[in-house]
Amino acid sequence: MADFGGADAFAEEVRKELAAMYPPELKDPNAKTDYEAVWGGRAFAGSSDPQIVWMKRMAQKGWTAPTWPKEYGGGGLTPAEARVLDRELAAGKYRQPLASFGVWMLGPVLLEYATEEQKKEHLPKIIGGEIRWCQGYSEPGAGSDLAGLQTRCEDKGDHYLINGQKVWTSYANEADWIFCLVRTDTKVKHEGISFILFDMASPGVETRPIKLISGSSPFCETFFTDVKVPKENLVGKLNGGWEIAKRLLMYERQNISSSGFGGGGGALPVEEIAKHYVGVENDKLANGDLRARIAAHKMYDRAFGLTVKRVQDMAKAGEAVGHLASVFKVGAATLNQEKTELVLEALGNRALGWSGDGFSKPEIAATRAWLRAKGNSIEGGTTEVNLNVVAKRVLGLRDHQ
Ligand SMILES: Cc1cc2nc3c(=O)[nH]c(=O)nc-3n(C[C@H](O)[C@H](O)[C@H](O)COP(=O)(O)OP(=O)(O)OC[C@H]3O[C@@H](n4cnc5c(N)ncnc54)[C@H](O)[C@@H]3O)c2cc1C
Repeated sequence: MADFGGADAFAEEVRKELAAMYPPELKDPNAKTDYEAVWGGRAFAGSSDPQIVWMKRMAQKGWTAPTWPKEYGGGGLTPAEARVLDRELAAGKYRQPLASFGVWMLGPVLLEYATEEQKKEHLPKIIGGEIRWCQGYSEPGAGSDLAGLQTRCEDKGDHYLINGQKVWTSYANEADWIFCLVRTDTKVKHEGISFILFDMASPGVETRPIKLISGSSPFCETFFTDVKVPKENLVGKLNGGWEIAKRLLMYERQNISSSGFGGGGGALPVEEIAKHYVGVENDKLANGDLRARIAAHKMYDRAFGLTVKRVQDMAKAGEAVGHLASVFKVGAATLNQEKTELVLEALGNRALGWSGDGFSKPEIAATRAWLRAKGNSIEGGTTEVNLNVVAKRVLGLRDHQ
C-alpha cells in the first residue's frame, strides 16, 4: 500500500470481500441469532449459525487477527491495511466476527515469548476461533498484589503438577484452555512465577460459576487438584513468568480501552434514551441539568475515543504504548460507569425493574448494565492500582515516604 491510490484500491477490495463473506441473515440489524458475540471454542464446532459462518469466513482470511503473520494463519496485513479493514468493518456496520481473550491477550504474548512449536500449535486455533481461552491470574489472596499468587506448580520429571485455586476467572466454565500464572519457586516472590498453558478438560480442573448482582455469572472460582501438565506447555523461562504476565496485562488494558466495556446501558445513544423518557421542550431535552451533564459526557467520550484511536495507530505503527494502557483503562471504566448512571437517571422509576412484564427488555437491560459496570473499575486491574501505575511509570512520581 505505497500511495493513496493503493490505499483506495485496498479499501475497495476489502469492501467487496466483506460484502461477499457476510451472511445475508446478518444484514438485518434486528436479526435474531443465537449469540450476542461469538467467542469461538469447541462448543461452536459444527454450528451453522450465521454468526459462526461469518467468524469462520473471516478467520479463513486471517482477518480475526489481521496483523498476525500469515504463517500462523493471521492476515499478514500492515498496520495501515489493518486500519483500512477496521474502518470498512465500522462503515459497513458488520458484527464483530470473534470476541477472544486469545486474540486480545494471549496471542500477542505468544508471538513475543513462545517457541516456534507453541506458536504453530496455538495461534492458528486462536485465529480460527477453535479454542476459547480464559485467564488464570487472580487468586483469593492475590488480586492487586498479583505476585502474591500461591497456585503451586511442581516439576515431576516428565510433567508439571498443579494444585491451587484461581478466582474471578471469566468464562472459565465455557473456556477450552487456560493461560495461567503459577508459583514454581516458593522462596522468592516475582522471580518464582511461571506462565503456563493447559487444557480445561484435564482431570483435576473444576469450575464453579459465581453469580453477580447483575444476575449474570460471567466468572468462576477455578480449582486445580493434581492437574498434570506437559512440560512443553510452559511459555518462556521457568520462573520468568512475571514479565510475560505484565506484558499480557498491558494488552488486556489496551484492549479494554479500545473496545470500551460494551453494553453501556442500551443500544441507543444516551441522549435519545433521555429524550424518550424525560421529554423534549423547544427541541431540547426538557431537563437542562441532565442535558448539560449528557453533553459533557459526550464530549469527554468523543475526546477519549479519538485519543485512544491515535494511540492505537501509534501501537499499530510499532510505537510502544506501554503504561499508557493504564491511563486508558481508567478512562474507559470511568466513562462506561458514567454512561450507565446517566441512562439510569434518564429512565427514572422505569429503572426499578428487574424482571417480568411490567418493564421493557431495554429498561431491564439498562439496570443490569449499570450493575455490571460496577466491575469495570475492578476488572483488568483496579482504578486505584492503575492510577498508581500512571503516577509511577507515566508521570515518574516517587512513592510517598
Ligand atoms: C468482571 C470481572 C472480571 C474478571 N476477570 C478475571 C479473569 O478472567 N481472570 C483473572 O485472573 N481475574 C479476573 N478478575 C479479577 C480482577 O483482576 C481482580 O478483581 C482485581 O485485580 C482486584 O483484585 P481483588 O479483587 O483481589 O481486590 P484487592 O486487590 O483485594 O483490592 C481491594 C481494594 O483495595 C484497593 N487496593 C489494593 N491494592 C492497592 C494499592 N496498592 N494501592 C491502592 N489501592 C489498592 C483496590 O483498588 C480495591 O479497591 C475479574 C474481575 C472482575 C470484576
